[in-house]
Amino acid sequence: MAQVATLSEPAEQASPEPVKGLYIGGAWEQAADGATSTVRCPADGREVAVVVSSSAQDAERAIASARAAFDGGPWRRLTEIERGAVMLRVADLLERDREAYARAEALDTGKRLVEAEYDIDDIAACFRHYGKIAGLDVGRVIDTGRSNAISRVVYEPLGVCALIAPWNYPLLQAAWKVAPALVAGNSFVLKPSELTPSTSILLMETLAEAGVPAGVANLVTGRGSTVGGPLSADPRVDLVSLTGGLSTGQTIMAAAAKTVKRVAFELGGKNPNVVFADADWDAAVDNALTAVFLHSGQVCSAGARLVVEESIAERFVAEVVQRATAIRMGGPFDPDAETGPLISAKHREQVHAYVQAGIAEGAELLCGGYIPDEGPLADGFFYPPTVLGGCRSGMSVVREESFGPVLTVETFRDEAEAIAIANDTEYGLAGAVWTSDASRAQRVAGALRHGTVWINDYHPYVPQAEWGGFGKSGIGRELGRAGLDEYREAKHIWQNVSPAPSGWFGSGTAG
Ligand code: NAD
Repeated sequence: MAQVATLSEPAEQASPEPVKGLYIGGAWEQAADGATSTVRCPADGREVAVVVSSSAQDAERAIASARAAFDGGPWRRLTEIERGAVMLRVADLLERDREAYARAEALDTGKRLVEAEYDIDDIAACFRHYGKIAGLDVGRVIDTGRSNAISRVVYEPLGVCALIAPWNYPLLQAAWKVAPALVAGNSFVLKPSELTPSTSILLMETLAEAGVPAGVANLVTGRGSTVGGPLSADPRVDLVSLTGGLSTGQTIMAAAAKTVKRVAFELGGKNPNVVFADADWDAAVDNALTAVFLHSGQVCSAGARLVVEESIAERFVAEVVQRATAIRMGGPFDPDAETGPLISAKHREQVHAYVQAGIAEGAELLCGGYIPDEGPLADGFFYPPTVLGGCRSGMSVVREESFGPVLTVETFRDEAEAIAIANDTEYGLAGAVWTSDASRAQRVAGALRHGTVWINDYHPYVPQAEWGGFGKSGIGRELGRAGLDEYREAKHIWQNVSPAPSGWFGSGTAG
């Protein structure tokens, strides 16, 4: 049984915020129908905040504000370098307010404070990255092969962007959209998950303090099913960027089709962690745990499928199970906790159902697989690290994203079989290969149909490198140069410097 740690600091330290969430044209507003919702910490159910629960009509007001700011406002007329300077100020302010942000993120998600602090560092780094690359690639001169033409490709902002974020890394996933959208000159409406709105509320105040003009940054808190319609269907919106689940992406894509607006999607993953017998043993075992149990598996790139060479599988899995069983769960402020709860009771039920389905389909439960119902963990949505042995590709727990602390084990006999198993998924977000054979590492990395491949590592990323998925893991890329291109249009400007008749249709005289 997993170790139990005390949950968190006393509840009175979480003081309720005044009701915010709907930020339109630089001012906090209330929902037209006055609706609010309560955010609770998934570690112990304490009330964290009461926020606005917006209606579709509220979303339309936010879209109108973003449209007016784009069409008539100063932001897109600044140079990219000027907008980049504002992004650098945002990064500085995030660092100044790191603790307030981290605390809000930890309380909304239930994740450990230290993990939330890392997230805020990553968010500041994202804004800093886009601030630094501003002005480096604003267009190019084209060689037309003609002496009478000057030809340039320039990049312009798209217009109004609807930015829809999930609950697992609430502000980080939002920042990957907000920073490039702003530096490219767009206006936006941000919609965080209804479960984790607090840091998005803080961000609106930080952006205003940094110098983003009123109306450029707008926020709508509320349920996706309520405000998602206008955000994806309204003709005044030029792009919808979603990080979320596959079915949400499919709903948004269908709604966006009517106005042929752009979509950018970061969806799910079912990511293979491939371990060869010649891998560095200690590093591979340790990272097999981090790959899947970090943030209790609520990570899109979680290495939830251990694909291990048959000759070492028994010993390797035994060590993973022994260490998984010792992982301590606890609340955000528990210094002994190593991981936190799942986001909600509903999500935990879904994770548990995947585990039970796997067992029913023939997998062997090696550890975990139960809902804690006594002690302090019973107050939150905890689920212990779980390992299922003897898995096959047809099982639902292997094919579908459980988004929880659930590791499935598959084995292979040779390199070709390892690649085939690793690619046997409709997703394609990330994966890893562990081996001490450098040529094999490169061969396997080249053969994997996944957007990120780690060799002898798991999880690191940098904002300079693109992030995104093959297959049903998404459309487009975030971060890197491509992450900026998502938010701009390329325009070709051709100038003839010595105009003359083309002569295409004869002399131009009748008869
Ligand atoms: P979700 O799809 O339930 O919700 C994501 C966001 O979409 C939320 O803000 C939600 O309110 C909104 N939404 C829901 N229905 C909508 C609709 N009809 N129209 C518009 N918006 C709608 O996802 P989640 O449960 O919040 O997050 C978990 C999912 O996100 C997982 O599948 C995970 O893999 C994925 N994810 C992917 C990445 C990545 O980089 N690829 C990163 C993080 C999370």
